[in-house]
This record gives sequence, structure tokens and C-alpha cells, in this order.
Amino acid sequence: MQKHDQDFIKRKNRSTVFEMIKNNSPLSRADIARLTGMSPTTVSRIVSELYHLDFMHEIEQETTSVGRKAVFLQVNPRSVLSVGVEIDKANIRIGVIDLDGRVIGSRMIERQKSEASEITLEHIAGGINELIEEESFDRRRIVGIGVGLPGIIDHASGTAVLSAQLGWKQTDIAGVLKKHTGLEVAVDNELKVKSLAEHMYGSAKGSNRSVLIGFGSGVGSSLIIDGEIYRGESNSAGEIGHTVIDPNGILCECGKVGCLQTYIAEASLIEQSNKIKPITSLDELFQAKHNGEFWASSMLDRAMTFVAVTISNIACMYNPDTVILTGKLVERFPEVRAFIAEKCMEQFVWEPLRGTFQIVYSAFENDGVVIGSGLLAQSRFLDIGSQMEQVEQV
Ligand SMILES: [Zn+2]
Repeated sequence: MQKHDQDFIKRKNRSTVFEMIKNNSPLSRADIARLTGMSPTTVSRIVSELYHLDFMHEIEQETTSVGRKAVFLQVNPRSVLSVGVEIDKANIRIGVIDLDGRVIGSRMIERQKSEASEITLEHIAGGINELIEEESFDRRRIVGIGVGLPGIIDHASGTAVLSAQLGWKQTDIAGVLKKHTGLEVAVDNELKVKSLAEHMYGSAKGSNRSVLIGFGSGVGSSLIIDGEIYRGESNSAGEIGHTVIDPNGILCECGKVGCLQTYIAEASLIEQSNKIKPITSLDELFQAKHNGEFWASSMLDRAMTFVAVTISNIACMYNPDTVILTGKLVERFPEVRAFIAEKCMEQFVWEPLRGTFQIVYSAFENDGVVIGSGLLAQSRFLDIGSQMEQVEQV
């Protein structure tokens, strides 16, 4: 057998054993041999390599009712790390994420509204390097960077095709960040990575078909089927904010008329409110409603109705088992949650679909995009074989 074939098999076996323990721990050496079909000697050798490079721990547990103890293996969640980045209009969040999806170090950077993309990306690279150095993270343990942002993203090349919120067009995010950090970079739409976080460690854990709907500065969704993000032809599946619900409606920022998000998105609601009263936030709009201002009540009632209509349409379209709601409108205002809990299933969802899915809220709220981006990077670049070589080179 050729040397590079042997190396390949060695690496493949290492990652098989690592993945097996990561997904099914705690496991004994005998369990691993049985599940992978490898010989006990091979398993022992790989486990001992992984153990010595700190990729896993041993724990003692009782196995039977007679109280016999056996040694089990558990992955060290800090042995493989990634960096998650959320790029928003005004803020950038950076976090170091471990294998369990926990944020174990973070930074916030402010972004000027009209800042050029190159400047923003250089700031992000600087922030990442600083975070790694100041908090003494072992660079050899970091498999890569994941980035989540609003817009249409070419995830294969790591380019933002169009982000209306940031004003970015054909921006090579992966190229610039890799140049300044030396790390591999994965880029995706913010809701897609957020749904990944919820699916792996959050509100939709254990679900087979979940849809995350975001009611934020825009409206969008992300569908996960059997653990995979459904992307569509150009990674634009789920852009429900721009489905037209009234051809005679209001002009949308996308150039079309009557898009769903013109009735729900924060920016749209504020813009329309300003015809009556100068307000700058959803909180002020709710305040106006609570003060008994009719225009504010009717606008918010309409928005809540469209939230329920959206959930119902999504249920008809995808027949999911879980719908995860996220975004300021549904997370921050208790009356919106109450409306959804009391009215959505009974009054809006088509009868045969009632009770076929659960409506839940994001488990991670503000950290969701950072965690999901980090997990995206891990799933994209986690190759324990090459990671081990990196750690071995002391
Ligand atoms: Zn639109």
C-alpha cells in the first residue's frame, strides 16, 4: 500500500473514532470496536493517541446492577474550537465556540453605518486575532471561522452576493478574513446558521424537520431537514420576507410591491409610523399602542396577524415538526407571545395541521448567530486527522 493511502486510512479511522465518541458518548473501547467494526487493537491505538493529545477524557461509570465499574470515553469539548462571527448593521459579535456549542470567549465591535466592507472585515480579523491572543486560546485547536450575516450568500465561495442591510455586494468575506487570520472561513446567511444552532443544541434538538422564522429587521426563514440546511438552487430558500401578499401593497426595499416584510419588519413598521408620529423603535410603537393611540394598535394588530399567517403558511408549505420563532418582534413583547399562544393554532393554522408541530422560541436569542456560525465552521472543517497533526507539532 502506498504511504499516502496509509496516511489517508489512518486519518479516516481517527475521525471515525472521534465522531463516534462525540455523537454517542460515553462509550467504552469495546463499544467503539463493535460499532465501527475496527479491531480492538486499532481502537486502542487510536484512543490512546487521541487521549494523549487531550482530545478526550476517561470516566468511570457503573455498568451493571452489581456495581461493576468500567472505563468510558468522552470527548473533551475544548479540544476542537472555532470562531463564530455575526455581522449586523451596527454591531459585530465574535465568539470562540467549543464542541458543545458553548461561547467560551467573546468580543463586540461597533460598526459605522457607512463603513466600507474591507474596513469592517479588517476590524473583524483584528478582533479575532486579539481575542485568541488575549484569552490565550490554542490556535492549533481552532478549526476555522464561521460568519453569519443577513442577505444572499454564496456559501461555497464565502461571498456575500447581496446584503441590503449592510450595503454589501459581491463581497469576498472568506478571502479577506483568511488572508488576515490564516484560518479557514465558512460564510452563510444568519438565519441558516441560527437554525443550525437551534437544531444541534437549542430548541429544536431532536427534531427531524424544523423551520426557524426570523422576525427582525427583515423577515426570513430557514428549513432543516434530517439535520441538513435546505438551501435551494442559490442558497436563497426561505426568503419568505419577499413573498408578495398584496400586489397593491406598500413598496418594499427590494423594489417589489406588497412583500410580507413590509407589514412585519421593524424598519417597515417604523417607516410607516413616521407618517403619523416620529418614532425610532418598536418599543415606542408598542408604547403608543399602550397609550391608546388607535393607529399604533391597528398597525401592530395587523403585524401580529401576519406573524400568525406566516406560521400557518410555513406549516402548509413544509409540514415541519417544529417551528422556532426568533427576532425582536416575537421575543421581546409578551403580548405578541400571548397572541401566538392563544390564537395562532386555533384561528390561523389549517385544521389538519393543528397539533402536528410545536411552536418554540430560540434558546440562544442574541448568541444564536455566533454559535451557529461557529458550529458551521466546525462541521465544515472538522477533520480530526489533520487537527491531530496540527496539535502534535509542538
Ligand atoms: Zn421585498
